[in-house]
Amino acid sequence: MRVKHRYIQFDSHLKIIQPVKKILDKYSCTYNYEEDLDCVLSAFKYNLKFELYEDATDFAVLQQELSKFKLEPQIGTIYEKAEIEKAEWFIISKGHFQYPQPDGDFGYREATFDLKNYCHLCGIGKVQNAPYRLKTEPKQRNHQFWGLHWVFDAIFVRREAKNILKREQIKGISFSQPVLHKKNLPIEDFYQLHIHTVLNKGFDSYNTKIITCKFNNEENWHKDPNLNYCGRIKYHHPMIGGYLFDKQIFNKDFDIVETYEYFGSGASANKLQIVSKRFKEIVEKNKLKGLVFEPIMHEKFKREIPVSNEHKHCTMINCIEKTQKTSCIFDKNSVIL
Ligand SMILES: [Zn+2]
Repeated sequence: MRVKHRYIQFDSHLKIIQPVKKILDKYSCTYNYEEDLDCVLSAFKYNLKFELYEDATDFAVLQQELSKFKLEPQIGTIYEKAEIEKAEWFIISKGHFQYPQPDGDFGYREATFDLKNYCHLCGIGKVQNAPYRLKTEPKQRNHQFWGLHWVFDAIFVRREAKNILKREQIKGISFSQPVLHKKNLPIEDFYQLHIHTVLNKGFDSYNTKIITCKFNNEENWHKDPNLNYCGRIKYHHPMIGGYLFDKQIFNKDFDIVETYEYFGSGASANKLQIVSKRFKEIVEKNKLKGLVFEPIMHEKFKREIPVSNEHKHCTMINCIEKTQKTSCIFDKNSVIL
């Protein structure tokens, strides 16, 4: 597993981009630089994109040099081929293409769900009791798997995918037809895939935050003491190290399941959908487009940043560069988690 820091910097000037490029050149890092001097929005005139991997020898020094520019990278986990091949279970995700209808005032909630146990503060507890309503027919013809904004746990499939999943006798699923909102008509050859198996509790939150629906919660949100907080918990999606689940909760009889746990932030809460290696192979063999697979982890990830060569023999505490009379924060491999 590798940890990637992805930087994208747009600017109307070169005050940051120019020195950052110099640093990247110094460490022979590749980057993508583009300029569009005629751009109507001046903030988009200059653009610099690059990626750094934490396991690269120069990562720590580079990050130190870049820190004064206060750039904010997106940090993500990249799985090695061997990890993907070894994995037995995979979280699935798909593209989000439309908003559920009616979308004004989030009216889709009343239209699609039983809200008896729903909490509008954390988003937990809605139970589907009617078909989803879409604005238009889904246009993405080559997507056999399809998704919506806001309700990330709803999965939709086209007829071909439905037929293949049926033919392969995938257990614990059923299909229903979403509706075109204004016409109130079912959408042809397009289905929602319902998953009936829910895993037992088994998520390990060692690398992410637990968020409680309570006054002044872990997200530093919910500042009104008079609201009716439900007290339930959810988790932030882990950014580094993947999703760690107890191996024991998985049952080989099922190829597609949902988590017991909810994930999300603010008022958003969704379960994850997990499939077996067999399910992944069926999708790949039949070239069904639209799903991304992320392997489930069963061991904690040890995040390590290697020492760059010039610091390897440094004996000073906290030295940034050997030539500086400060000390070296890279004197050992630093474990951050
Ligand atoms: Zn709540």
